[in-house]
Amino acid sequence: CGIVGYVGNDDVKEILLKGLEKLEYRGYDSAGIGVRGDDGVKVFKEKGRIKALREKVDADFNATVGIGHTRWATHGEPSVVNAHPHQDSEGRFTLVHNGVIENYSQVRNEYLSGVEFVSDTDTEIIVELIAKFAKEGTTEEAFKKALDVLHGSFALGLMDRDDKDVIYVAKNKSPLLLGKGEDFNVITSDAMAMLHLTNEFVELMDGEVVLLKQDEIIIKDDEGNVVERDSYIAEIDA
Ligand code: GLU
Repeated sequence: CGIVGYVGNDDVKEILLKGLEKLEYRGYDSAGIGVRGDDGVKVFKEKGRIKALREKVDADFNATVGIGHTRWATHGEPSVVNAHPHQDSEGRFTLVHNGVIENYSQVRNEYLSGVEFVSDTDTEIIVELIAKFAKEGTTEEAFKKALDVLHGSFALGLMDRDDKDVIYVAKNKSPLLLGKGEDFNVITSDAMAMLHLTNEFVELMDGEVVLLKQDEIIIKDDEGNVVERDSYIAEIDA
């Protein structure tokens, strides 16, 4: 399973599909992408191979920001509905998640009674929780607040319909890297999946919150202080 994401100027659909193909070796049962165009966010998902997902993607939908996911089901059977990205019921937030949320049923009972869930995943709880918290603050605050409630392992990439220029990123005990390019930035579970675009990466630590934008990557520590971290060059053959 794996995650890729991109903010830039190029056709994000192709970039994500290519990245997901390079993550196929990690194993998966379904895959999906969420892409952001001028007319909002569109989600494409499919069971089985990336090849099948590729056929489902609307080639005419113009988008330059997006997130992609290969799923290894832990909560809910492999299916199109359970595939990622997941969205909250109002369709504002779009989320990909690798890992397991251990306290998802507690979180659902404590914070999300009355919400109608469409999937059987632990992931849908995360995106509904963020949507709920975002009613009382900024998306960054809501994301951070949700992270403080969740227990388990996760790598997350989040898009907000109302702010098209940023992907919110965090991780806990699951791998996720930030990649730097000229006029674009990426996230990926494995450097290899983005080497066709860049070989310059920045490490991400558990508990940090990242705002990934086209021309900057802002990393904040647990207390909200901006972290300066040097990038490194991945010496791997593409
Ligand atoms: N727990 C999530 C699910 O079952 C994510 C699984 C994964 O890491 O792919 O949908």
